[in-house]
Amino acid sequence: MDRIAVRRDLHKIPEIGFKEFKTQSYLLQFIQNLPQDRLEVKTWKTGILVKVKGQNPTKTIGYRTDIDGLPIVEETGYTFQSDHEGYMHACGHDFHMTIALSLLEYYSTHEVKDHLLFIFQPAEEGPGGALPMLDSEEFISWKPDQMVALHIAPEYPVGTIATKPGLLFANTSELFIDLKGKGGHAAYPHHTRDMVVAASHLVTQFQSIVARNIDPLDSAVVTVGKIEGGTKQNIIAEKARVEGTIRSLSAESMTLVKQRIEAIVKGIEASFECSASIDYGSNYFQVNNDTALVGEFMEQADKLSDVSVIECREAMTGEDFGYFLKEIPGFMFWLGVNSDSGLHSSSLMPDEAAMETAFQVMTDYFNRIAN
Ligand SMILES: [Zn+2]
Ligand SMILES: [Zn+2]
Repeated sequence: MDRIAVRRDLHKIPEIGFKEFKTQSYLLQFIQNLPQDRLEVKTWKTGILVKVKGQNPTKTIGYRTDIDGLPIVEETGYTFQSDHEGYMHACGHDFHMTIALSLLEYYSTHEVKDHLLFIFQPAEEGPGGALPMLDSEEFISWKPDQMVALHIAPEYPVGTIATKPGLLFANTSELFIDLKGKGGHAAYPHHTRDMVVAASHLVTQFQSIVARNIDPLDSAVVTVGKIEGGTKQNIIAEKARVEGTIRSLSAESMTLVKQRIEAIVKGIEASFECSASIDYGSNYFQVNNDTALVGEFMEQADKLSDVSVIECREAMTGEDFGYFLKEIPGFMFWLGVNSDSGLHSSSLMPDEAAMETAFQVMTDYFNRIAN
């Protein structure tokens, strides 16, 4: 296949979580044009599962790609820039899909002993497709025994892959808090319940969570990125909304941070005589690499002549692949694509040559462990 052409086709049609209709039909069309003798295909919502039947299977090895784009206005200047105004494949999921298709094409004509399961998962960026997919009948009936996935990494050169045993991505959660008090005239504060003051106290009190509740040898982040409240300079605000994100290196710390947030919000309700609601939005479970599986992978990949393997540090970013690894042993790795602009940037320009590196690394891996 012409990987670059496929990647550019996909780059033009970014769609957000569970709306990947054109993407799904493009992928299905590609899959239907492959030799079908060993393939079995199922769809799940806007996702797809493709099983490549092994010759004499003792296990199933899963390979997952995400398929969604982001609501970002593209500024790459590419000739193949997004046709969907306001949307962009700014997280490399166009790369991930193309790599998955090239592997699928290869294994549709190259026999291996075990089953391979190619998983095209929607809604990685939100609201999160991994968790509902794991619970679906379509997935459960083909549940793999181990799983692998990759993500492009702008900061590494082409030919480099990076990963580590154990924790690779953090636990993450969105945070939305709505406060409702009583508005009124700025000169009559005693008749009101001011939600601008309440929100200010709330944000200030959050600062004690990481400083005073989290084990200093663990790590967590509570960031409020947006406060909205009030209507005019001389009117006391009836409502305020606080929006943020929580990150933690351990699942236990995530639970603890949320308990503290809930306690602080209760205190704000009492002290400012208001009502509050908390919504955690999208939550992602940590990506925890299986030590033995990733160790073997790193050692073998490093032997390939055009590939160098780096042991990296964990990142405070989230990935919903973590939900798969919570139930199924496996690992994830970074694929160097050498772009000055990072993930979720409007000018992310990953080097297409990296797709060949991924193909080499993954065929080497599957040929070894599925035989
Ligand atoms: Zn992303
Ligand atoms: Zn991504």
